Amino acid sequence: MKRRKFITQSLLGSGAILLATKQARALASPAAEAGSPLVISTWAPNVKANAKAWEVLSTGGRALDAVERGVMVPEADPEDTSVGYGGLPDRDGRVTLDSCIMDEAGNIGSVMCLEHIMHPIRVARMVMEKTPHVILVGEGALQFALANGFQKQDLLTENSRRIWKQWLQESKYDPMDTLKHMKEYKAPGGKENHDTIGMLALDRNGNISGACTTSGMAFKMHGRVGDSPVIGAGLYVDNAVGAATATGVGEEVIRICGSHTVVEAMRYGKTPREACKIAVERMLSLRRGKIEGKQIGFIAINKKGEVGAFALQSGFTYALRTAVGKDIVMESEFLI
Ligand code: ASP
Repeated sequence: MKRRKFITQSLLGSGAILLATKQARALASPAAEAGSPLVISTWAPNVKANAKAWEVLSTGGRALDAVERGVMVPEADPEDTSVGYGGLPDRDGRVTLDSCIMDEAGNIGSVMCLEHIMHPIRVARMVMEKTPHVILVGEGALQFALANGFQKQDLLTENSRRIWKQWLQESKYDPMDTLKHMKEYKAPGGKENHDTIGMLALDRNGNISGACTTSGMAFKMHGRVGDSPVIGAGLYVDNAVGAATATGVGEEVIRICGSHTVVEAMRYGKTPREACKIAVERMLSLRRGKIEGKQIGFIAINKKGEVGAFALQSGFTYALRTAVGKDIVMESEFLI
C-alpha cells in the first residue's frame, strides 16, 4: 500500500517527473488500469510527443493515429537534431530520414533514406495503406511522397549546417567518435541529449501500434540506414503480445533483430523489462567485447499495459503517459 501511494503521488504531479530505476520498476506493474490507454516513447524530451499522442488516445482514438501524430512533434521540431526537420545531415550535408510504422493487424510501412520531406512517418503510413509494398527508399520514396501531395522542403537548418561545417573541418569518419561528439553537439547550453523517437501506444480498445523515426547517425555515409525503419529491428508490434522499439547504434540492433527479440521474449512469458534486458544481453554476448562505447536502449509494453526498458549503458531515459500519470520520465536500468 505504501509503495502504491508513493507512486500514485508521483504520478499526479503536473510537471515532468523523473522516476529513478526503483520507482520505474515499481511502475512496471500495470502502468494503467485495464482498458485504459497509455503511450511510451524513447527519451525524456518526448513527453511533448506523448502529450500529442494522448490527445488521440484519451478521446478513444486509435493507437495507430496516436503514434503517427505523436512522433510528428519531434519531426517538426528544428531544435531536435536527430529527427526530421533540423536533423543532422550525412557527411555530404544531406538530411536523410528513416521511419516506420506498424499497426495492430500486422500492417507495416517504411521509408528509408528519404530527403526533403518533414514528416517521413506520414509517408511510411501511406506506403502501408496505399501500396502493395512495405518499404520505399531514397528517390522512389521521394517520388511517392510528392505524388501524394507532400511538399519538398529544405530540412537542413542553420544550426545543423553549422554543426556539419564544424565536423567538416576534420571530416573524421568514425561513427563511434561521431556518436561521442553528437552528445556535445546535441547539448547546446547543457540541454538533455536525445535521439531517435520510438513510440508505442495501447488504445482503449486494447490495440497496440508503434512508430519509429530518425535522421539516423550524424555524418553517416550517404545511403546508410540504421535499425529505425527496419521492422523487427527498430520496431515490432504483435497485438496478441506487446510491442518494442529501439534507439542507439542501429548496426547492433539490426544484428539481433532487436525489437522482434524483445516481443518474442514477452511471448514466452517475460515482462517488458525482462524482455528488453534479454535483448541487450543477447547483443553483448553476440558481440563480446565489440560494443564498447556504444549505447542501445529498448522500451516495451505488453497487452496488460505493463511497461519496461533496458539499456546497454547508463543515460537512457524514456517518457510515459497514462490516465493517471502525465509527463513521466524514467531512467532505464542498464547492463554495463
Ligand atoms: N537508431 C538510430 C540509427 O542507428 C540512431 C539512434 O537512435 O541514435 O540510425
